[in-house]
Amino acid sequence: METSILSGIEASKALYSSLEGRISNLKNHGITPGLAAVLVGNNPASEIYVKNKTKKFEALGLKTDLFRLNEDVSEKELLSLIEKLNFDDDIHGILVQLPLPKHIDSEKVLNAIVPTKDVDGFHPENAGLLSIGKPRFIPCTPKGMMFILKHFNIDLNGKHVVVIGRSNIVGRPISILTSLKELGNATVTLCHSGTKDLKYHSKQADVLVAALGSPEFVDASFIKDGVCILDVGINRIERNGKSKIVGDVNQKSVSGKASSLTPVPKGVGPMTIAMLVENTCLLYTSPSPRDRG
Ligand code: NAD
Repeated sequence: METSILSGIEASKALYSSLEGRISNLKNHGITPGLAAVLVGNNPASEIYVKNKTKKFEALGLKTDLFRLNEDVSEKELLSLIEKLNFDDDIHGILVQLPLPKHIDSEKVLNAIVPTKDVDGFHPENAGLLSIGKPRFIPCTPKGMMFILKHFNIDLNGKHVVVIGRSNIVGRPISILTSLKELGNATVTLCHSGTKDLKYHSKQADVLVAALGSPEFVDASFIKDGVCILDVGINRIERNGKSKIVGDVNQKSVSGKASSLTPVPKGVGPMTIAMLVENTCLLYTSPSPRDRG
């Protein structure tokens, strides 16, 4: 079987072309969607992620402010920056790049972002809305994955989706999204580190989501013929003396058995950035914290 490649570059181009019209329309009305990106410390991977994100915003003529804080910044200082950004009318979305240094309580920081500027959709208010089937701001990675499926006409209705990984960033939200009647209507199995006989479950999948953060973990022995695979993993490994990015799926092993597959890189990653742009454009209409009383 030929495995078709679900290119995130192709899908993101389709999204950007619709966003460009929306952005110029907003600009004609004097609105420039603005993102504040907060980067704490010098984690090299975080530096690259934030750079890629802000570069895209600049290329689209959007406002982006990068706030760099030292590794030893106090939690109090970080929270007071978030509070300031919450009330800044030129900032529509606030992104705090994870991971944060160990002395900072990440949950406390993410929860301090006013839900109407929660561009990543991690705030309990937005996560709660998603879990009751009324999504408002959806985390960018799972939202991008849903876009890829739609773009490549992969219908989820009645299919069995198996998700490996239950994080609040990827696994849990994609399992909710794919199960929602209006968006996916799939039957969903959510697997995690406590799952017994993972292969038994993954072999049932019509659509398999690999989001466990383990390089090339899923190989041909985990899948049935004809499965569609969304490989979310971004893992840096050393191979033949060279540094390389690989997914959570052994792409070589599953090729020829899977019907379709998102590559790594250039699969889910580019869609995450495209959805960050889309969420920022959506957030500009949200009320300011002043109006929330
Ligand atoms: P995480 O570490 O928060 O969660 C991993 C999940 O996988 C956990 O729920 C754990 O229970 C489960 N798990 C781990 N090992 C397992 C195993 N052997 N069997 C079954 N379940 C197992 O990770 P995350 O933040 O969800 O990220 C997952 C991967 O996706 C990482 O490689 C990360 O870099 C990548 N990622 C990519 C993007 C993107 O834009 N493409 C965005 C976010 C995360």
